[in-house]
Amino acid sequence: MSILVISPHHDDEVLGCGGIISRDPSKVSILQVTDCDDVRSSEYSNLIEDLGFTRSLCLEFEDGVLDIKSKMDLSSSIRRGIKTLERGDTPFDQVFIPFCSLHQDHKAVNHAALVALRDFKGEILEYEYPEGLAHFGEFMPNVYFELSSKELEDKIRLLDHYQSQLGLNRNEDAVRSLAKIRGHSSGFEYAEAFRLVRGIRKWPNYHSNS
Ligand SMILES: [Zn+2]
Repeated sequence: MSILVISPHHDDEVLGCGGIISRDPSKVSILQVTDCDDVRSSEYSNLIEDLGFTRSLCLEFEDGVLDIKSKMDLSSSIRRGIKTLERGDTPFDQVFIPFCSLHQDHKAVNHAALVALRDFKGEILEYEYPEGLAHFGEFMPNVYFELSSKELEDKIRLLDHYQSQLGLNRNEDAVRSLAKIRGHSSGFEYAEAFRLVRGIRKWPNYHSNS
């Protein structure tokens, strides 16, 4: 199983998929779309060092203005980034993209990623973030991944690298609360929730049975 997380900003990957990333970092690649200041960049370097074998690439688009960039340029860059991160030309099995929230960069990356992945044959899932009331209730998950207590602590440890980004909705308490709510919805103590956008699977031995 190989996984790609497409992240508009350095921290979205942890907020949305920290549990999945920490479960087996060697199977995960992270595509960062926007650049960031030196502090955030060094926080991200520490995070990647902490993860060990996770592959990472930054497309270095300007932060905060993706909505006024060329849509074709953005989706083409994401497509090239995906190709660069693939291991041995083997396509990813799952790609996680940001939920189309009110943030202009998240919206732009959601759309551009879907364009870039138009021929992709695996699963595309949207991830959420513990944001405020701006889009509360709009994210409708339909896939849940159980988080053990240890995996939740690992996710919080990863978030701790982003000290410059912690705030009202981006903190340990918010991550813990969201994991608990998603756990309650899915019969686990904790969970990360996603929305399956598209899933294409080959039926095993389909041709030999027909
Ligand atoms: Zn973001």
